[in-house]
Amino acid sequence: MLKIIIVIPIYREEHNIRPLYERLKGVVSQLEEKYAFEFIFVNDGSPDDSILVLTEIAEEDFRVKVVDLSRNFGKEIALTAGVHEAEDCDALICIDADLQHPPELIPELIQKWEEGAEIVVTIRKDTEKQPILRQIGSKLYYWILNKVSDLDVVSQTTDYRLYDGKVTKVFKSATERERMFRGIMDWLGFKKVYIEFIAPARLHGEAGYTYLKLWRLAVSSITSFSLWPLKIAGYTGALITIMVSFAFFWMLLFYIVHGELVYSPLAIVILANTLFMGITLMAIGLVALYIGKIHTEVINRPLYVIRERINLG
Ligand code: UDP
Ligand code: MG
Repeated sequence: MLKIIIVIPIYREEHNIRPLYERLKGVVSQLEEKYAFEFIFVNDGSPDDSILVLTEIAEEDFRVKVVDLSRNFGKEIALTAGVHEAEDCDALICIDADLQHPPELIPELIQKWEEGAEIVVTIRKDTEKQPILRQIGSKLYYWILNKVSDLDVVSQTTDYRLYDGKVTKVFKSATERERMFRGIMDWLGFKKVYIEFIAPARLHGEAGYTYLKLWRLAVSSITSFSLWPLKIAGYTGALITIMVSFAFFWMLLFYIVHGELVYSPLAIVILANTLFMGITLMAIGLVALYIGKIHTEVINRPLYVIRERINLG
């Protein structure tokens, strides 16, 4: 029997947990001859009665495990805690609790995995009732992240994913604190397969991800996978320096040929000032290179990730 663990982060989901559990149970019951399922619910400091509902379900069903975090740490950490608690499984599935990720997709996720995928990623095709600002924000975010980092991020992918046991095992070695769960998973590599689904609106309650939280996540994922914001300062500085140098060069040439100054004294002062600004910005870009080195040492990612060892004990 292959062991599959389903990890569900919970924040203010008291009315969604029961319906989700029932639907999950229905879906996995058709697959139980081949697979042993386990559920890890991570209660991310919900202020409502989520934990009571979870305790109740855990008493009814021994396959249901609950990790109750001491406060709200955010979804990225909640998912991480779930993966850390999952002991040697063959595959692990992360799914949201609000039923925006239809559990009925699980057999397809498993099938793709059986066909050889090590990470099965779902792509949200269309979310009903998604506010316009959020849609634009999400598009922009993926565009920037793709441009500035060397990650291969596909737009509209979600956290609803299946990971092979090999992947979750190496994931445990990631130690960075500011983290974007699926960003790290993407960094690890492995064979990915994408499937699409249509996300319905959340069943009960409101999205716990406020614009502020989403903004923080976007900034943190961009800064942990790229130095682009600092480099941009460096490039701007280089551009300014080059342009001002040309202006000075022109002035010098004109003075040599015609014996008079093309610019007023004030313009010369401004130009000189701009030149120093350019040099300062360039220095910031240079600092970025050093920070980049420190950054990669500090986040301490594994040097490489091995898929499999053959004839190597
Ligand atoms: N969530 C969490 N901690 C948080 C916010 C959200 O564990 O601080 C969980 C939430 O319970 C749900 C999932 O993360 O299972 C997705 O949250 P939400 O539906 O609010 O986000 P969205 O669908 O807008 O991405
Ligand atoms: Mg949701």
